[in-house]
Amino acid sequence: MPESEDVPPPARTHCPYCAFQCAMTLGTERDGALRVSGDPDFPVNRGQMCIKGFTSASLLDHPSRLLTPLVRGRDGRLLPASFDAALDYVAERLLALRERHGPEALAAFGSGALTNEKAYLLGKFVRLALRSPNVDYNGRYCMASAAAGQNRAFGIDRGMPFPVSDIAETKALVLWGSNCAETMPPIMQWVDEQRRRGGALVVVDPRRTDTAQVATLHLQLTPGTDLALANGLLHLAIEKGLVDEGYIAQRTEGFDELRRSILSYEPAYVERLTGVPIELQVRTVRLLAESESSMILSGRGPEQQSKGTDSVLALIHLMLALGRVGKRASGYGTLTGQGNGQGGREHGQKADQLPGYRLIEDPDHRMAIAKVWGVDPGELPPKGKSAYELLDALGPEGGIRALLVFGSNVAVASPRAAHVGERLRALDLLVVCDAFENETAKAAHVVLPVTEWAEEEGTMTNFEGRVLLRRRVRPPPPGVKTDIEILCGLAERLGTAQHFRFPTSEAVFDELRAATAGAKADYSGITYERLRSSHGVFWPCPSPEHPGTPRLFSDRFAHPSGRARFHPVPYRPAAEVPDAEYPFYFTTGRYKEHYNSGAQTRLVRELAEAQPRPRIEIHPRLAARLAVDDGGEVLIESRRGSVVMRARLSRDIRPDTLFAPFHWGGAEAANVLTNPALDPTSRMPEFKICAVRVRAVQNETGMSS
Ligand code: SF4
Repeated sequence: MPESEDVPPPARTHCPYCAFQCAMTLGTERDGALRVSGDPDFPVNRGQMCIKGFTSASLLDHPSRLLTPLVRGRDGRLLPASFDAALDYVAERLLALRERHGPEALAAFGSGALTNEKAYLLGKFVRLALRSPNVDYNGRYCMASAAAGQNRAFGIDRGMPFPVSDIAETKALVLWGSNCAETMPPIMQWVDEQRRRGGALVVVDPRRTDTAQVATLHLQLTPGTDLALANGLLHLAIEKGLVDEGYIAQRTEGFDELRRSILSYEPAYVERLTGVPIELQVRTVRLLAESESSMILSGRGPEQQSKGTDSVLALIHLMLALGRVGKRASGYGTLTGQGNGQGGREHGQKADQLPGYRLIEDPDHRMAIAKVWGVDPGELPPKGKSAYELLDALGPEGGIRALLVFGSNVAVASPRAAHVGERLRALDLLVVCDAFENETAKAAHVVLPVTEWAEEEGTMTNFEGRVLLRRRVRPPPPGVKTDIEILCGLAERLGTAQHFRFPTSEAVFDELRAATAGAKADYSGITYERLRSSHGVFWPCPSPEHPGTPRLFSDRFAHPSGRARFHPVPYRPAAEVPDAEYPFYFTTGRYKEHYNSGAQTRLVRELAEAQPRPRIEIHPRLAARLAVDDGGEVLIESRRGSVVMRARLSRDIRPDTLFAPFHWGGAEAANVLTNPALDPTSRMPEFKICAVRVRAVQNETGMSS
């Protein structure tokens, strides 16, 4: 841009990545460069952001950006095509495959990165345009266990039932299996404030993470034993007379049965199972019970397990029994991960749900949605397959012949990733809608280029349950479409245009509002107009006059009785634990520079330079036993596959455990190793624990490299 021209003022929007949804401004420098700044007025990030958000604009004009549809030709290469030709081809193939194999042979996979409008429309598209039950999304890999646990205990799932500012006020904060100092760094301003005000911080994590390093207490438990530890803390609370009997009697049901189920969790037994000394168990439970206010916030640690729902329930039980849930600056919450991880699980892209947290198997809920959609309830398909089960069923054997993927890099993000890659290649039709050609797109028959966050309008619901408007601040490049345009274009070609006439994202939102009226996640009182002039509105918000609901549970829970429910949750080990053949625990997590499968952040120069490769974290004692040097190559094998990574020696990890980030694909994909054992309720795979063996890679001279 010439020096003499005025530059437009910076425009307000939100970060494309995590559930903190930092508000930011996007401006243009005189030389034409885009500049991101944190928005100091937004009451969540208060001007702070992390390196991912600050560098996010570099993806808008990135040279790898997809700017034209690609269709695989007879020679096996992806070739440019017009959008009309690509959509015609996809629709033709979908119709032919449905004719031949039935509607269940068609499926779609969504994402917690999609706006509420896209998540809503994707669920509607699969049920009405494809007529298939098979839609699910990658939130099944992130938040599903916390959601299931909260639904069972509270009758509703809103990740945090209070605003983030409550963190600063609480006197005892337990961050359980969350390394939020790396995954959502701006949240640490609230944690730091809590500690400045004299609060105690306890971190429960098998690793001494950046978050654990600032804690008052660090409980470095054995991977997969969170449930035993939580049950043990409740046992101690009961034994020491710390539970709130009045609260339990007035606000809960099922405690006697739970009390009986907890009897065997003696502290010494819990110490043996978890490795957490009795003294730390006692100090933790006393902090939670005796502080004026206290809260537990969980992350993926206890949730991404084959018993994740039960682990979350055990954490909730503890806070209910201490009489903390619904009180100021107290209770239980989960730190939802993906940008729209909260809204994405509310509006119908999940196999068992309809918009507003309605259930697809509930006749009244089906009736309510069928009415809004103008169809007979009998036309709505039943419940479909959960995310991993859906991917496992791709190809002739499983019966799913066509898959549309929106905003998810399933080839990297799924457990047993090599197997998922094989399943993707067995499809008759794989369509990937994305802004970049990720690892999943490599197997695609059609790739459709889509707009990025700053080029489209839409609502996101952050980890607090705050619905906010992410504004469009620049036009999209020619050649790309929004996911909404793609879904409506396909629906028209599939003969269902009458259900998909949405000229704008706001028009979709208006139908979503109607579809959620009277439901648990009621958005009917939230309008774009309200969102434009506010810092967001907390759901439920059942009318335009309603102020929204920042805090839940102050006087009742969402079960018909108004009471919270206890459910006995006996401890059981992980689906796969170390043995003679695979003697070590393996666990996964994130680097602060990368986001989920890394499909975007690996393309950002600053982030790729800071963390170019994954490193396997090994305790020096174990490394010495294995003759592994810092930086040396290591072969890690599980029963599902093997990867080679360079070692990073660290005393912050237990000597029986190895850790790697899961942001890379191909030969460095940590998820090649992980176990797809599923939680029976949430269908969450067990990303956090599997058994591996490990050895140094020898070079030609026989020395470790
Ligand atoms: S990635 Fe999360 S914490 Fe970082 S800037 Fe974006 S929204 Fe904020």
